[in-house]
Amino acid sequence: MIIVPCYNIVLAPEINLYFAGEYFKEITREKGEQGQTVVFLMLKEDKPREAMQPYDFYPIGITGTIEAVDKEGNVKIKTGSRVNIDSIDAADGTIEVTLSKRQDVDDMSPEESAKHFDNARMAFIQSIQNTQNMQFHLLARNYIQQWESLGELTATLSYHLPISNEEKYLILAADTLSERTERMEQAIFQYVEAEKVKKEAAAAQQNQNEKVYREQAIKKQIEFLQNELDEMHPENISDARKFEKKIEAAGMNETAHAEAVKVLNRMKQEGQDSHEYGMLYDYLDFVTTLSWKKEEMKLVDLKEARKILDADHFGLDKVKRRIVQQLAVMTLNQKQSGSILLFVGAPGTGKTSIGQSIAKALGREYVRVSLGGIRDEAEIRGHRRTYVGAMPGRIMEGIKRSGVSNPVMVLDEVDKLAKDYGGDPSSALLEVLDPEQNSTFTDHYMNVPYDLSDVLFVCTANTTDTIQEPLLNRMEVIQFPGYTASEKFQIAKRHLLPKAMEEMGIHQEKLKVSDAALRTIISDYTMEAGVRGLKKRLDTLCRTAAVRLVEGNRRCISVSPGQLQKYLDRKPLLHDHMLEQKQPGVVTGLAWTQAGGEILFIEALFTKGKGNVIITGQLGDVMKESVQIAVSLAKSRFPEKAELFENHDLHIHVPSGAVPKDGPSAGITLTTAIVSLVIGKAVSPKIAMTGEVSLRGCVMPIGGLPEKLMAAVRAGIRTVFIPVENENDLDEVPSEVKKSLEIIPVHMVSDVLEKTGLC
Ligand code: ADP
Repeated sequence: MIIVPCYNIVLAPEINLYFAGEYFKEITREKGEQGQTVVFLMLKEDKPREAMQPYDFYPIGITGTIEAVDKEGNVKIKTGSRVNIDSIDAADGTIEVTLSKRQDVDDMSPEESAKHFDNARMAFIQSIQNTQNMQFHLLARNYIQQWESLGELTATLSYHLPISNEEKYLILAADTLSERTERMEQAIFQYVEAEKVKKEAAAAQQNQNEKVYREQAIKKQIEFLQNELDEMHPENISDARKFEKKIEAAGMNETAHAEAVKVLNRMKQEGQDSHEYGMLYDYLDFVTTLSWKKEEMKLVDLKEARKILDADHFGLDKVKRRIVQQLAVMTLNQKQSGSILLFVGAPGTGKTSIGQSIAKALGREYVRVSLGGIRDEAEIRGHRRTYVGAMPGRIMEGIKRSGVSNPVMVLDEVDKLAKDYGGDPSSALLEVLDPEQNSTFTDHYMNVPYDLSDVLFVCTANTTDTIQEPLLNRMEVIQFPGYTASEKFQIAKRHLLPKAMEEMGIHQEKLKVSDAALRTIISDYTMEAGVRGLKKRLDTLCRTAAVRLVEGNRRCISVSPGQLQKYLDRKPLLHDHMLEQKQPGVVTGLAWTQAGGEILFIEALFTKGKGNVIITGQLGDVMKESVQIAVSLAKSRFPEKAELFENHDLHIHVPSGAVPKDGPSAGITLTTAIVSLVIGKAVSPKIAMTGEVSLRGCVMPIGGLPEKLMAAVRAGIRTVFIPVENENDLDEVPSEVKKSLEIIPVHMVSDVLEKTGLC
């Protein structure tokens, strides 16, 4: 007796079953010979024979006889009757059973059985018409003729029936013929229904596909015809058509594309008469003009870059060195952007124009965005489109102007950002400059992200004082200290004058401006740290020369210092020059302004009174406090002069009276002026000083030292006292300035008083 464990098949009495030889051998471990008895046992779950345990089997099986074995070992078995498995032993692939016959109740007539079989067979035959599963059904067609009973039909379809292994077992377990027939019929009809649904679904899918293909084909056709029409009448292309094409060609990211298509559809719906049309048009025009293409990184030749920087700007060696470093780092990192440089200095010191040179050195587009006076966050980040007259912010507007996605963008005057009810533009700018966030910068107007990570930002400012701390921390400050007179001379001679002449169309040989004339323009007609005023003067000079050349039909003009007043059409400036005479109570200080450095005079005077301190000259709060400190220091230093203070009012004045002044750096000058007044001894007008003072008499550091020292040189000062802690800043001061001044670092007020001969 051969034990045949099987899983997931339908078994029934008196049916023919066919087993492939290989498979039969695998599950039984025997070859099978004609006439041998077999017992089919049904497994609850599929597992290899070695792992089978007694509890893996259902309790009812069926006997059979091997009727034939062909040459390939394929086996034909005829099942017999059902058996109860009374006991079972299964271990390591050996299965032994004791069986007893199980009673079958034959409660259907042969005619009735035949009728059920015919019904099921017909349903099956119908279901395989136009079938999807060709291979199986071709096979089934061969069997159709051979099937003699419902049992055989069901058994053959075993693996394809949509019922579980247990339900298949229940067919075998049914004790009455009618019950078994019903279960088999159910399984067959379920199968037929499932096939039908599959077929319908496939047909529906095909319909759907056909519809999609058709739609695509129609669209293509329309597109083709429309293009033909457009070519015939380009003047008639509608806005919608124009944008359709532009949107597809723009190479936008997915979100931007979706938004643009949405707006375009809205524009089509609204029509040209709608009041929203213009707004929708502007939006599409903006986003489709914007460059969405990622630009390739260009190789930077540092030598060439250096050459370009040198050719465009005279001096500025430190700044250029830092820029070249930045370019080198960007090349090594394979990045189009790097740390954000903040150029700080007075107007006209070349901050913006060197940004332009950086772009030239990198071979990239340059764009300048002015941030001065912006108070509203929306100016940076754009207005939401719901507002009437909404516009994109200045950053995206700048990107559009540049025409690329990786320009060198100079953000001008970041120190002039203001903050008010319209939100904080600084924080919006922070987002623009933050490499973590700027790859998905979302302008409110555009409402879709744009990648700013390839933009090289360079910022400029006149001072760092008004820049908010978080913003300042993002940037690397590079000081532009302003130019000395001889640097200005070189800039004028090499750059400004030739450029101005070229702009006015004056040939080199036609205008000669003597060196002395250039120097006089610098010293007598400008008063600035940068060269903006100088540039204006030279422009005026060239314009006047142009008129003379044309009117007088002259071949060549030479300009000497004496003719400047006529050529520049203005009188020389009256500088704040050092004082001619010395006088007790008057001391020269140094101030920093946004235009560079200046000298200023502190005047102190006792008038009859009751010990009051009178302050004039539009001094700010901090400076007023410096006056108080200076008075207290002077009083404590000269207790014997207490009466002088008590019986007089002390008047402190800082000209020019109309210009507001503030800051603590005049402390040392105020103190020295008061002491000079108290002891009645004058300080040399060739001495100037700068430094904050504390109540202990310490001299504390100040800002803007290079500018202040340059102003001192311009004014003819010889000796300058500076706080000891500012000594390091002397590196920033041009050597020409250092050479023409005696610079004395001081710790305490007493040092100054001693060295000025006041004690
Ligand atoms: P800022 O941005 O600092 O106010 P700009 O960059 O606008 O100054 O400079 C004003 C003008 O002066 C420009 O025409 C610029 O070319 C010129 N300029 C400034 N510094 C130099 C320099 N070192 N060499 C040549 N030209 C200079």
